[in-house]
Amino acid sequence: MKINIDVDGIKSIDVEKGISALKILSDLSIQKNRKPLAARFNGSLIDLTFPIVSDGTLELVTFDDEEGQKVYWHSASHIMAYAVQRLFPDVKLAIGPPIANGFYYDFYTKKSFAPEDLKHIEQEMTNIVKEDLPFERITQSREDAIELYRGKDEKFKLELLEELKGSISLYRNNDFVDLCRGPHVPRTGYIRVFKLLSVSGSYWRGDEKRDNLQRIYGIAFETKKELANYLHKLNEAKERDHRKLGKELELFSIKENAGVGFIFWHPKGATLRRIIEDFWKQEHMKNGYELVITPHIAKAGLWRTSGHYDYYIDNMYTFHKDNEEYVIKPMNCPAHILIYKSKIHSYRDLPIRYAELGTVVRDELSGVLHGLLRTREFTIDDAHIFCTDEQIEDEILGVLRFARRILNTFGFKELSYELSVREPTCPDKYAGCDEDWVKAERSLMRALETENLEYKRMEGEAVFYGPKIDIKLYDALGRPWQAPTIQFDFNLPARFDVTYIGRDGNAHNVLIIHRTVLGSIERFIGTLIEHYKGDFPLWLSPIQVRIMTITEKSVDYAERVQKSLISHNVRTEIDKRNEKINFKVREAEKEKIPYMAIIGEREEESNSLSIRERHKKDRGNLSLEDFETEIRKRCSEKT
Ligand SMILES: [Zn+2]
Ligand SMILES: [Zn+2]
Repeated sequence: MKINIDVDGIKSIDVEKGISALKILSDLSIQKNRKPLAARFNGSLIDLTFPIVSDGTLELVTFDDEEGQKVYWHSASHIMAYAVQRLFPDVKLAIGPPIANGFYYDFYTKKSFAPEDLKHIEQEMTNIVKEDLPFERITQSREDAIELYRGKDEKFKLELLEELKGSISLYRNNDFVDLCRGPHVPRTGYIRVFKLLSVSGSYWRGDEKRDNLQRIYGIAFETKKELANYLHKLNEAKERDHRKLGKELELFSIKENAGVGFIFWHPKGATLRRIIEDFWKQEHMKNGYELVITPHIAKAGLWRTSGHYDYYIDNMYTFHKDNEEYVIKPMNCPAHILIYKSKIHSYRDLPIRYAELGTVVRDELSGVLHGLLRTREFTIDDAHIFCTDEQIEDEILGVLRFARRILNTFGFKELSYELSVREPTCPDKYAGCDEDWVKAERSLMRALETENLEYKRMEGEAVFYGPKIDIKLYDALGRPWQAPTIQFDFNLPARFDVTYIGRDGNAHNVLIIHRTVLGSIERFIGTLIEHYKGDFPLWLSPIQVRIMTITEKSVDYAERVQKSLISHNVRTEIDKRNEKINFKVREAEKEKIPYMAIIGEREEESNSLSIRERHKKDRGNLSLEDFETEIRKRCSEKT
């Protein structure tokens, strides 16, 4: 019997029922840049060897496809488990899925895997790959599968089988069999280059009361070059870790005895933060925002009105004082609303834009805390825009342009956009009326389209109180980071009865847009550290110039130079220690200081400085005046 298959949207063919994608491929001699690893038949992922029995559409899945990578890595994890089993027959198998980057497998064994073991396992994997064994899919009854694993004495697989119903799929390479949904590549020979990266402890089912397991992580690619690139990137990411650099460059610390999740900004880190905050404030004032400052503590009643007390209480720090319950603010919005409500506003006053570097405190689980990226106390670069219906399109466009410009100035040129909208099927779970949502969504879309920005529409991803745009920025390694959000709110204006008097003389509900540009100052600085690897552009460098004396004789002159530089707002330090100049230079290099000004008797006589610029080496002698002009110019251009 014949069936009709549409292949990759290019060819439509009639083939024998029961044919595999692999056979179709070789019959049609379809050329792809990459080897197909699996296929999608009518949308679901299948093995290339799986028999196709009905009409449908067939897409070939390669390593360029995220799902293709998963198939590849999952297959590599089976090969690793087989290698382990060949080398260490007593080891019991737990589970081995693909992950975002690579794969792992959890093993139960009394021995602990050492780096040499990983080498041996890699070697055995190479053998299995050379043997080019097929990945054979087997379906059996649950009873037969239990029988099989009883024979192998695999207690974890037996436990997993307990929870499964109906027929069970297994994948076999020779005498290695794994309980598995698949799909897999057709043969072990498909896995070209791989590396086992690390071993760490884990628990069966992530439960610390259950068996201790050992997890081996690995990665696999089709070419050596891809593996080399990946390993390079992995190493780069390690070197850029903001927690490591934050310590080395003396920017910040976290003190266990003061509580995890709270940041101590050391002088250099505090300077970096102040530069960012000053710039932020100036830009906001230039762009129609008014700066406000609101208290860190407010009565619980305020948070009852806002609704946070009911649905956010687990994350809030609360305390009692004089028979009154207080909350340390987890958000700035209610405070800005109270300022707005201090007087009656007419439509002529709108839009009103209140901005605040508002520090908030939220109780996060200690397990999710991560350096500056996830903290318990952080400062949102917050603003709330109060406007009318007619103003929303201009406001959204304004915010979008503003946010992009600020991020570009900080050196983030590559951005991506996500538009989160409501789930069309259950409008009941959302605040606000249908008309509000339609208008808000349209204004967000129009702003993105006016700016010619591509965006991903996230159906059903909106929070209950309004649609939003999330902007992601990409660092020097191409890794995405969460940054600005532009968020509509149809909930708070109603809860707080926030209104304005319209042209008709009646009160109307105001529209509130919450927006951030940097997200949180802490997280943004973490991103900046990793993006620049701590090697900040001049305008952001906590110390811009380090003056170094060749001998003690020049200390007076060095101090006069420092005074002059400081009076021109150049952040300057003197290294007047009795050390060799080469040693001082090396230290300044390590601390990533942009300029070194070396001072000896010759410089003093000519009233000049011998300048070394980072990444440019020797600049020769410059007069103090020329040097100051150059720094001031570069700082104002933010280059
Ligand atoms: Zn599997
Ligand atoms: Zn807000």
